[in-house]
Amino acid sequence: MKKIAILGSTGSIGTQTLEVIRENKDIEVTGLAAGTNVDLLEKQIREFQPKLVAMWTEEKAKELKSRIRDLDVKVVSGMDGLLEIATMEESEILVTAIVGMIGIRPTIAAMKAGKDIALANKETLVTAGHIIMPLAEECHVKILPVDSEHSAIFQCIQGRPNQLPCRIVLTASGGPFRTWTKEQIQSATVEQALRHPNWSMGRKITIDSASMVNKALEVIEARHLFGLAPEKIQVVIHPQSIIHSGVEFADGATLVQMGQPDMRVPIAYAMSYPERLDNVAPRLDLTQVGPLTFEQPDFERFPALKLAYQVLETGGSAPVLLNGANEIAVERVLAHRLPFWRIAPLLEETLSRVPQTGITCVEDVYAADRAARKAAEEIAARWAI
Ligand code: NDP
Repeated sequence: MKKIAILGSTGSIGTQTLEVIRENKDIEVTGLAAGTNVDLLEKQIREFQPKLVAMWTEEKAKELKSRIRDLDVKVVSGMDGLLEIATMEESEILVTAIVGMIGIRPTIAAMKAGKDIALANKETLVTAGHIIMPLAEECHVKILPVDSEHSAIFQCIQGRPNQLPCRIVLTASGGPFRTWTKEQIQSATVEQALRHPNWSMGRKITIDSASMVNKALEVIEARHLFGLAPEKIQVVIHPQSIIHSGVEFADGATLVQMGQPDMRVPIAYAMSYPERLDNVAPRLDLTQVGPLTFEQPDFERFPALKLAYQVLETGGSAPVLLNGANEIAVERVLAHRLPFWRIAPLLEETLSRVPQTGITCVEDVYAADRAARKAAEEIAARWAI
């Protein structure tokens, strides 16, 4: 019986994690945390019977407590609540399905408490990867990727502990604007950006996919998870999302992982690793998938993608600045306060305006993030709708 706690159980990854658990009686839910969705968390508590649950605000926590007063479940709130769930004695794995770099502290606390991390929350790795990865080794815990691309790479390198691939092939669907001209993208609305062709995901990552910031974050994530130099991480546009990513070995062999675009597969693998669960998602019938196509990414129309390579080369706080500015930009775009196409220029300007600093501890990450947000807010105000 695997014992699992989930941060962000009411979101896209969180609910799919619970779908996998519902079909697999060998996984027990020990703790659940959500931001604002009291209705759904209450339903999840009644079905999965965790011992400890968290809502972000005290007010929501009080509301939840009153609704579940017939149950013997402890309700906590705020960052202390997330930390309590992350470190709870009963659990072995923490699924980080929360959005944004708010996930850093609970992830670190969970590792220090000996928990393996099923990591969906890529912003944590992008901003604090060089703290998280060595800490995982020191604490003898695993970082199990949930992102479908990184799970694909992870699956392709199983059984080859001493054989680093010479290249990672990171696939990208290209998002809703793959075939749009630069001029068309400049008039794209939020609603159009939220219409992803292949994946149903939370709002932030859907906007990130449309701007291709998501792929930029994934290049940085791959750098930390697999230790390859940035120039060995190649992004390839693959609109059908059937090949989820792959690796190339020195002899010229390329291994890829394929399947229907269904997040339940990487989620299940992160929870059951090194085993596989039965019947997680519909099988892939190769005779039915049709042609699989591949394209070079277009850095001209999607300039955010090249920023991944730029910030990795700069190092230090540069990835933190990129992420912080993006969190502000997406928030504004979703609130209809910034045009979608301004995201990449906003990131570029933040990176050129905020001085890059060294990062040696988590406090340095927070300081760089604050500087990035401040600059990004000023720039966004200039371009406000
Ligand atoms: P969603 O927006 O769908 O869900 C976010 C979850 O986090 C919700 O449960 C939300 O709660 C919760 N949350 C937000 N803020 C807080 C907080 N302060 N305290 C506690 N809980 C909080 O996001 P996704 O599931 O799409 O994405 C989650 C992460 O996984 C992101 O980092 C994303 O990049 C990554 N990811 C997502 C994929 C996907 O397919 N969706 C694929 C690969 C990676 P509530 O709704 O109750 O407010």
